[in-house]
Amino acid sequence: KVLLEVKDLTAKIADSGLQILKGVNLVIYEGEIHAIMGKNGSGKSTFSKVLVGHPDYEVTGGTVLFKGENLLDMEPEERSLAGLFMSFQSPVEIPGFYDYVSRRLKIVNMDTNFLNRNVNEGFSGGEKKRNEILQLAVLGANLAILDEIDSGLDVDALQDVGEAVNELLTPQKSVLMVTHYRRLLDIIKPKFVHIMEDGKIVKTALMGKIPGVVEKGKINDSIDRTSEL
Ligand code: ADP
Ligand code: MG
Ligand code: MG
Repeated sequence: KVLLEVKDLTAKIADSGLQILKGVNLVIYEGEIHAIMGKNGSGKSTFSKVLVGHPDYEVTGGTVLFKGENLLDMEPEERSLAGLFMSFQSPVEIPGFYDYVSRRLKIVNMDTNFLNRNVNEGFSGGEKKRNEILQLAVLGANLAILDEIDSGLDVDALQDVGEAVNELLTPQKSVLMVTHYRRLLDIIKPKFVHIMEDGKIVKTALMGKIPGVVEKGKINDSIDRTSEL
């Protein structure tokens, strides 16, 4: 089942009018892990933020369907309620479901005394990232957008965070991860890796059994999915 369908998405910075996304096409099915890589400044974070409805950006064209609904018509809160999650740079407060959370703390390898501290106070970079993953667990999103969760993590923390994400995956849960580094892809193994360049996805590689590259301009729907079986 298709979870997210992005067609010819264009967007600009609301303030300056500078066009950043120049026609993004992407299809994500339920349960799939996708990665977006690309040089700094290519538009990866902008794309992520446009999907969650960040007010700094204005969509100028194209369509985005999430579970068949027009995502671009929804407020950020509605997107979140619909099952879209993005890892936060500065994580928000965690609601007080102590039992629910503490069961999940085990998954992310954190001590429950975490709950007695103010959120993020005195946290190391690694702990903050784990906290983001914890939120993902708590929120139970269908599509988790993880923007550079690997930045600033040492090898051990990266391993923990990667494994935590893997633990949380279910056949219904999809992940879109943005990263500059290949390291994370060795832990959380994507089915597709997309390369973004100047506000567009210019290449898509199908990973796993049958690696291949789809050339510029074609969306990943054009890969014959039956050939993977
Ligand atoms: P990436 O995540 O691939 O490094 P970004 O989406 O962060 O790329 O940025 C793409 C381009 O848009 C860059 O040139 C960046 O400077 C610019 N940009 C992104 N967001 C803003 C913003 N809020 N204000 C001004 N420029 C921005
Ligand atoms: Mg960047
Ligand atoms: Mg970025």
